[in-house]
This record gives sequence, C-alpha cells and structure tokens, in this order.
Amino acid sequence: MGAVSLYLVDFVRDTYISDLNERLAHEASLLAETTSPLFRGSPDTTSIRTVSSRISEITSARVTIIARDGTVLADTWEDPAAMENHARRPEVQAALRGGTGQATRVSGTVRQELLYTAVPIRLDGSIVGVARVALPTSRVQANVNRIVATVALSGLVVTTMSVALAFFLAGRTSRSIRSVADSARRLAAGDLEHRVQALAPDETQELAEAFNKMAVSLRDMVRDLATERNKLSAVLETMADGVVVIDSDGQVVLMNNAAEALLGARQPHTTQPRRFMDMVQDYELQRLVSTCLKTRQRQHGEVELLRQRRFLSAIATPLADNGSTGVLLTLHDLTRMRQVETTRKEFVSNVSHELRSPLASMKAVVETLENGALEDPATARDFVQRVHRDIDRMTAMVTELLELSRLESGQVQLQPQPLELWPLVEEVLAQFQTASQAKDISLQATLPEGLPQVMAEEEKLRQVLVNLLDNAIKFTPGPGSITISATKKGRLVEVSVRDTGIGIPPEHLPHIFERFYKVDRARRDGGAGLGLAIVKHIVQAHGGEVRVESQEGAGSTFYFTVPTAP
Ligand code: ADP
Repeated sequence: MGAVSLYLVDFVRDTYISDLNERLAHEASLLAETTSPLFRGSPDTTSIRTVSSRISEITSARVTIIARDGTVLADTWEDPAAMENHARRPEVQAALRGGTGQATRVSGTVRQELLYTAVPIRLDGSIVGVARVALPTSRVQANVNRIVATVALSGLVVTTMSVALAFFLAGRTSRSIRSVADSARRLAAGDLEHRVQALAPDETQELAEAFNKMAVSLRDMVRDLATERNKLSAVLETMADGVVVIDSDGQVVLMNNAAEALLGARQPHTTQPRRFMDMVQDYELQRLVSTCLKTRQRQHGEVELLRQRRFLSAIATPLADNGSTGVLLTLHDLTRMRQVETTRKEFVSNVSHELRSPLASMKAVVETLENGALEDPATARDFVQRVHRDIDRMTAMVTELLELSRLESGQVQLQPQPLELWPLVEEVLAQFQTASQAKDISLQATLPEGLPQVMAEEEKLRQVLVNLLDNAIKFTPGPGSITISATKKGRLVEVSVRDTGIGIPPEHLPHIFERFYKVDRARRDGGAGLGLAIVKHIVQAHGGEVRVESQEGAGSTFYFTVPTAP
C-alpha cells in the first residue's frame, strides 16, 4: 500500500502539473489570439488592458501583455507603468523566439512563486508581443497536497482495515491449528480415542475432519497390529520349536519359551538386552549365528548340547532389519527322534546278537552231523537234542519278544479280576519243584493269614511269578533257598521273591529291568534278558511297581506290588 501510495502521489502531481501547464498554454494562446488585432498600428493599450482584465477574471490567473521590446503593456496584478522591462525574462525570450516559454520563479513584482507560461502574439505572421499567464505555485501546491492527503488517507484506512482483518483471521485460524496440534500431541501420547473439534468454519474444519479420519484409521491400524502381535506371540509361545531373534549386534531381541527350555537359558527380566554369546555357551550354535551374521546366508546345523543332553537341528536365517542384518534362529528338538533311532538300532543289534549264538551252535552241530556223526546213532541223537534245545531257546525268545512288544504297544487289554494269591503261588512252586530239587534249592512261601484278594489277570500274574522264580533258580547255585512272601501295604499287596544266589553288582541294578540287559553277557543259560522287562510291563499295566534289592554273593530280592481287590 505504501509503495502504491508513493507512486500514486507522484503520478497524480505530475499529471496535475502537466495538465495545468497545458491549460495555461491554452489560456495564453487564447489571450494572444484575442489581443493580436489590438497591435495593429500602435498598440491599443486601453483595449489590451480591458481584454486582459476580463480573461484574468475568467481564469483567475495573472495575465501580462508584453510588447516586442519588453515593455509591459498590461498586467492584471500590478501597474504596468511601475514594472521593469521584461525582455530578459526566460519565458518571454522563449516566446519571442516563437515557442511557448514556461518558467517557475519568485516574481520580482508580486513577491511570490509563480508558474509562468508565455506565447508569442503574432500579427500578419510576425511577432508583435508576448501574452503571459501566471498562477501562484502555492495554489498548485495546495491542490497537489489535497490530492496527496486523499491518497495517503485512503492508503492508511485500507492498510489499517487489512491489518485488523488479517489479525482477526490469523488469530482464528491459529487457534484452530493450535487445537489440532494439541490433539496431535495427545494422539502421539497414546490417546487414540481423542478427536478434534473444529473451532472455526474455515479450512481448519477440513483439517480437523482429515485429522479425525486419520485418528480413526490409526486406531484401527494399532488395534489390528495388536491383534496380529498377540496372535503371533501366542503362536510363538505355544509352539514346540525354539525361536530366537538376534539383532546385528548379537543381542537377543526375542526368545520364546521353547527356546528357553531347549537351550536352558533364561531371558533376563530386565529390559536390558543380552548378548546371545553370553546366554548360550554352545560353540556350534555361536558359530552358526556368527557365520549367518557375517555371510548373510542361511546356515543349518545339528547341535548336541551336552549339558542339557539334547540334540537339536538349528537353522539360522538372515533377517533384513532396517538395513542391518539380524538372525532368526529356529531350533527343532531331535532328542526323542535320536533316542528312538538309538533304541531301534540297539534293538536290532540285540536281537541279531541273541539269534546268532543258537544259530551258530546249530550250524556247528549240523556240520558235525554231515561230517560223519550221523553214522553214530548215539551221538546223532545227542546232537539232534542240542538242535532241539537251540530251537526251543529261539522260540522262547521270539515268544518273549512278541509278548513284550504287545505289552509295550498297549495292545494287551488286561482283564483283572479279584484273585486269591495263595493257590497261584502254590501252583507255581509245584511247577518248579523238580528244577529246584535238581539244584538242591529249597522252595517255600510265607503268606500271612487274611491277605486280601488282589485285582489281577491270573495268567499274567502267573507269568510274573514264573519269570522271577525261573531267574532265582537260574542264578542260585545249590544248595540254597528261595522264599516267596507277601505283605499288605495300604491298598496294595507287595510280593517278594528272595533267593540266596549270586546277587547283582550294584552298578547293574538301575538297568536290570531294561530289555536285553544281562549282567553277564557271556552266560549261555542266561536267556535273552527279556524276562524282567516283561515282569515290569505286566506289573505296571496292573498299576503296580517293581524294584530289586541285591547283595553280590549273598542273594537278591525282587519286589512287585498289585492293587488289592475292592
Ligand atoms: P534273562 O532272560 O537273562 O534271565 P532277565 O531279564 O530275566 O533276563 O534278567 C536279566 C538279568 O538280570 C539276568 O541276565 C541276570 O544277570 C540278572 N538277574 C535276574 N534275576 C536275577 C537273580 N535272581 N539273581 C541274580 N541275577 C539276576
């Protein structure tokens, strides 16, 4: 506004002055036209003065008529007689040369600044005098000042109004924006339910609406993310495989329950992250992780954790994370698979071993028979009996194996019934009478009066007693004794088979009920080592327990429990 006002003032003043000059030139020309006939012959001074006065009245300007020699013939503000020769005035000189002369100067006659315009007065083509019109510049200045004042005033008014309006609008807008900014801060602080109220019906209302829409979608997004995260962490926490996330600095960012259990590592409850290398001491795992970090290539390895007695399959996958690389380590527990594998291998090797000796003995016998022993009937019969025994041994073993496998697989459906122990024990004792007498071993049973009935399947219980008595006789060199006893222990009856045999060295006791386990592997009459395993399985299937007490050289006592009948 200031610049425009300055320009306007300048422009208006220039226009006004050039207009004024033009008007004065016109007036002077008119004056010259009107007065020129009065110069015919000798100038008619009286008429010239009358005309001058008249024009001066109409234009309210000072009018001066000057003769060619510079003598003032008429002047409307002063007495011409008292005025000096004007031939040297610049505007007069210009007019005498035939042009329009203009000048601004303080008049020597009237003592104020005047704006002069002079034109030549021509008569019959030659210049006979000069007509001059003058206006005091003070009057011009006053007009200019009035115009300047008007322009300046309107500039001021418009500026003031603009500033006031701008203040009002800016204030209102900035209040609205401040409220939106305030809401943004609350949103950032976590108040996702907060909404903005627009303060003014302007663009900020649009802003508020857009903001509220953003808040709604932000809330929905956060909710979705939270749901996703919960799902993910539920999956992570319940899955059987271990998952560990390690960042590029080797710090553990995430470790699920399974990983903690598998590695035997506890995630510290401080928020301080911990280095994987400090949490997990296993060299192979550390190598896997650091190679993956270095090469950014997936690494796979099988790791045996000696301290935890575990066997793991570990996969380290590079994770791109904001430009830096982390590692996702997944751990799969192969321990059970390994155990099954080992058990299977052991089983096959045990079965082969147990079959090999009777087969080898049979082959030797058959070869001997082929090589001539067949001709000697007495030897031949003896050899055939040996083959018979070996076949019996193998059949017994295969039967035991089948029995054990049925028991282990849970295929056998027990049908326990209330049962008196005494008749069963007597029966079994009678069965072994001959074998024990042959080795000079006394067999007896001491069952207390009023022993309750037991809940068991008769055939299975018989097999348990037979197996235990068989072992007792087998491992008791005569003379000796074997005693079967029973006592009631709460809701169970505990039966024991005690012998005075060779006993079992203590280091073997924990394994004695495992299948194929034999203290002396070289013993030929020892059986396949399945008898006690069968005993254990039958007893457990009835809901009882087995145990053994033994002293090397003094004898062994095998105990088992059976539930009493209700
Ligand atoms: P086996 O068919 O060899 O008898 P068992 O499973 O019945 O198999 O017994 C396993 C091993 O336990 C036997 O080989 C023997 O070394 C030991 N054992 C079992 N009973 C006795 C016992 N009464 N006295 C000493 N050792 C025994």
